[in-house]
Amino acid sequence: MTPSASAPPPALPEAARLRIGVLASQGDFAAHARMLSALGADPVEVRTAKELRDLDGLVIPGGESTTITKAIERDGLEPAIRAHLDRGRPILGTCAGMIVCDREHLDLVDATARRNAFGRQIASFEIELEVAGVGPEPIRAVFIRAPWIEDHGPGVEVLAAIDGHPVAVRQGQVLLCAFHPELTDDSRVHALLMAMATAARERAAGAPRRQGGDGKR
Ligand code: GLN
Repeated sequence: MTPSASAPPPALPEAARLRIGVLASQGDFAAHARMLSALGADPVEVRTAKELRDLDGLVIPGGESTTITKAIERDGLEPAIRAHLDRGRPILGTCAGMIVCDREHLDLVDATARRNAFGRQIASFEIELEVAGVGPEPIRAVFIRAPWIEDHGPGVEVLAAIDGHPVAVRQGQVLLCAFHPELTDDSRVHALLMAMATAARERAAGAPRRQGGDGKR
């Protein structure tokens, strides 16, 4: 662990910290890693299938979905990504990462993303966006040549939408957002991923719910 200027929350023993992988084939993985460290996780840059083993969570960042998809194929990462999900561990896909997880790519969610959905004129914009599951305060959401969810099945929960187009969705352990949560100082989307990762760890350990007595906290 490297001590850094922005002090992480109270240092937890290494085994207690969440190990969250950030797919580093292409795209803005460093900003995700910084945000995860600031929240007290250990970010792990992932380029090989081996590095995908034993992670508590995984971020598939923005970038260029065709390039990321090709890199996943080239590096043989798909089985390891599926194994990660089969272990019940969460994935956060942002922007191009949303596309990479859709039915036409890795098929990790019952949804189809539409690339560059907001059109050329408004390729990039920022908006205050209410996102279910991260608290009532809207998120300052940064969209850069973003997709939206064009079509989805009933198992997909829409967490946020713009003009009726879903821009944040969740299905099981897969959380997708069309914006870039790593580009502001609002870390609530990453915190949600970490909460999902913590819950996955607890499930794997046999769901110990005894401390609070009644399971509440
Ligand atoms: N437009 C890109 C794509 O289709 C996604 C852009 C982004 O991730 N910021 O892959």
